[in-house]
Amino acid sequence: MKQLTKTDFIQYLRCPESLWLAKNKPVEASQFIGEFSLFLEKIAQEGYEVEGYAKKLFPNGKDLPDNASPKGTKDALNSGQKVLFQASFLSESKAFARVDVLEKLDDNSFHLYEVKSSTSIKTDKKHNHLKDACFQKYVLEECGLKVSKVSIIHLNPSFKKEGVIKAQRLLTIQDVTEFISEMYSSTLAEINSALKYLKTTSINESQCSCRSKTRSNHCDTFFYFNSDIPEYSIYEIARISAKKIQQLLDLGVVQIADVPEDFDLNTRQRRQVESVKDQKIVFNKSGVRNTLSALSFPLHFVDYETFASAIPKTDGLGPHRQMVFQVSVHTLLENGQLTHFEWLGDQMELPVDMLAKMQEFTELSGTFVSWNAPFEMGRNSEMMRLIPQFENYLKYMNGHMYDLMEVFKQDYVDYRFRGSTSIKKVLPVVCPEFSYSDLKIQDGGMALDTWGRLMLDANFLGDPQETRKNLLDYCRLDTLAMVEIYRYLMGD
Ligand code: SF4
Repeated sequence: MKQLTKTDFIQYLRCPESLWLAKNKPVEASQFIGEFSLFLEKIAQEGYEVEGYAKKLFPNGKDLPDNASPKGTKDALNSGQKVLFQASFLSESKAFARVDVLEKLDDNSFHLYEVKSSTSIKTDKKHNHLKDACFQKYVLEECGLKVSKVSIIHLNPSFKKEGVIKAQRLLTIQDVTEFISEMYSSTLAEINSALKYLKTTSINESQCSCRSKTRSNHCDTFFYFNSDIPEYSIYEIARISAKKIQQLLDLGVVQIADVPEDFDLNTRQRRQVESVKDQKIVFNKSGVRNTLSALSFPLHFVDYETFASAIPKTDGLGPHRQMVFQVSVHTLLENGQLTHFEWLGDQMELPVDMLAKMQEFTELSGTFVSWNAPFEMGRNSEMMRLIPQFENYLKYMNGHMYDLMEVFKQDYVDYRFRGSTSIKKVLPVVCPEFSYSDLKIQDGGMALDTWGRLMLDANFLGDPQETRKNLLDYCRLDTLAMVEIYRYLMGD
């Protein structure tokens, strides 16, 4: 009989169909989901790291071996251990729990602690920490333990690293016993329905409930359940609402090419539909050129890469705060001359040296051009606080920043972008001679993960010189891509 873990339960609440597929057809599911990504691996590692600090709050706790069985937990409890880490329990109904910290109280009841690497207690559909804790309590009580207190240990949002990290300052313990009591009976009903659902032998695999939802709600298995959805479908229409998707489905429309002329869409969406129907580019040439011509030279095409971790690694930073570790700048003069500046950190420290050299290269002159400018501007605002000696320079940059991505929202629409304005989608279409596909580093997440390992992992397996070159190649292409796209837009 299949077991229901806490992760399964949360997945069930999010989407029963995806849980059913993962449990009943794991091979088919994995073909859509792909491998455990570097990003998910990093999140898991960070979770272990936070747990490591949480353990320091209980100096007399006993660490049960990894994957210790419920029997091992029982033996440890019988031996008089008061605090256990990773105690596991399996109920008769086949619900399984592994508890981060379990403390036996003087009245023989238990205090259950859940450790989270967030800076607050989350209660959204994707991460519901209170339902997690309810599930753990349910399993323990099914196994005959009385749980009288429940707490969530999470990262302290106002923590800032200054030298050696102390667990007491890094973490916050929040007593959630009352919340759990209030929601316990309704969550119990959901757990029972999840356990029942696990026994379901067949479901409708030809459609799932996301069919009437927007693309951002779809999980990786959307096309397993909706294999009839064609290329260039209505889900690709930029920022289309669920209401409009439903209206189109009611009209029997799933392909963009079939969207009626009089269907209510905004300008950007209407241009996309037009582009798909006529297989052509919709380009407001004069409008774009007027805007770009007004930018004052030199144009500094700039891109940052950032690192962030649950437990801060650099003094001055708090949990999950981003730190710029790399920059690439291509500077284009009015006469067409192009020069390049790049900087890649070789230590986990604030980028003081980067800003000094970058300022020397660009000076407080011309226009800074980036793709999705709020990201670069947000980092600049943070650096103003952390490295105040560059406040004037950073303020200049933010006051003279132009977002090249804006052009692709409605003034340049090509059906081959598939409703996206990502530079990774735009570049290969408008400048096919440039591509990210040959690069070892393919995106910002991979850059973050690779640099983090290079800096922190004592057993880093790659060649450090080669890895630095791969990082530099990736960031350099991001800014060169912007230059080429700019030249393309301004060309004949
Ligand atoms: S696409 Fe939506 S409804 Fe379909 S399996 Fe994924 S999350 Fe569930």
